[in-house]
Amino acid sequence: MPIIVQKYGGSSIESIEKIRNVAKRISECRKKGFDLVVVVSAMGKTTDYLIDMAHQVSSKPKKREMDVLMSTGEQVSISLLSIALNDIGIAAVSYTGPQLGIKTEGYHTKSRISEIDKEVILSEINRGKVVIVAGFQGVNEKNEITTLGRGGSDTTAVAIAAKLECPCEIYTDVDGVYTVDPRLYPSARKLESISYDEMLELASSGAGVLHTRSIELAEIYNVPLTVALNTGDIKGTIIKELDETMEKTAITGLAVDNSESMITLNGVPHDIKIIADIFAKIAELDINIDMISQTTPINKLVSISFTLPKIDLPQAINILEQYKEKIFTFSYDTFDNISKLTVIGIGMKSQSGVASKMFNILAENDISVHIITTSEIKISYVINPEDQQKAIEAVAREYNL
Ligand code: ASP
Ligand code: MG
Repeated sequence: MPIIVQKYGGSSIESIEKIRNVAKRISECRKKGFDLVVVVSAMGKTTDYLIDMAHQVSSKPKKREMDVLMSTGEQVSISLLSIALNDIGIAAVSYTGPQLGIKTEGYHTKSRISEIDKEVILSEINRGKVVIVAGFQGVNEKNEITTLGRGGSDTTAVAIAAKLECPCEIYTDVDGVYTVDPRLYPSARKLESISYDEMLELASSGAGVLHTRSIELAEIYNVPLTVALNTGDIKGTIIKELDETMEKTAITGLAVDNSESMITLNGVPHDIKIIADIFAKIAELDINIDMISQTTPINKLVSISFTLPKIDLPQAINILEQYKEKIFTFSYDTFDNISKLTVIGIGMKSQSGVASKMFNILAENDISVHIITTSEIKISYVINPEDQQKAIEAVAREYNL
């Protein structure tokens, strides 16, 4: 029988009733003749609660222990879903990531899957079982429990689908991928399909529908990926290799990210060694810097602005404080809340003028821009959060999003 990997996110299983509904959906799929591997997240906001508890216990919980803690949420979901399935006569068996040999590498709380042993999954399927897998977790080379970063269950699902060479369906509380997050722009359109590359840029620019790594894996292993509503009533969005059926507009989507902060370094000597040294120190803490811009030197000094995840701001400040002592011209400003807007579209590769049109739109609406970065298929702008809504509406109107 053909295998499908399905993934249900936290909101799809936030209550016992919803777990029962998912079990019913799985049983219908079984009856249609599919073998199923089902990956689940933690129920509702469980992971947030767990993190919050740790922070009540300590302001600096060890990341290794956070992994042990956070991974418990998914273990609750897999067992309950398996119990619900067995209760309605569908043979099911639950597995944690480590039990399935989901090996990871990298840092605690943001590990990457390096290997999956498919034998256990296949032998359970051969025994006629639905295999329920805890998303978001694995085990590293030191035999420690690891997690894959917030939202990482998507990646568990795609990684298993890649290994089994089968399609992957991600069920969630939205019915697909939209041109703009409908909570921010209610008249946004749902996309029937979108290319891996565009989806990757959307997700990594803050669209939040899918874990970025899951799309990377889907693209590398050519896993057909669908995002759809957890009730299955409405056709979702298909994420696949670019083809003729896809829209050829310059801009496919607009992503908004409010999870980053900005730091501006002032009075930095225009010496690449010093600049490299600052960024190396930040990189050593595994802080992911996203956008950077540098001014032209004035009196041999430059200003550099960059964005980083909000949660990493305190650690970065610690480092910068050391430079204040070392370099007497040096100072820095932090901007805790910024808004990052990113327009994405494969069409940009062939159509020119997107950047200049965007400048016009922002200028006409009196929106000032702090940093801009571009790649082949996207342009990102850091703007003041007060201007966010105005900017979304103006861009969406102009590009018919
Ligand atoms: N439960 C984890 C989280 O909340 C993983 C996931 O939902 O995909 O981030
Ligand atoms: Mg998610």
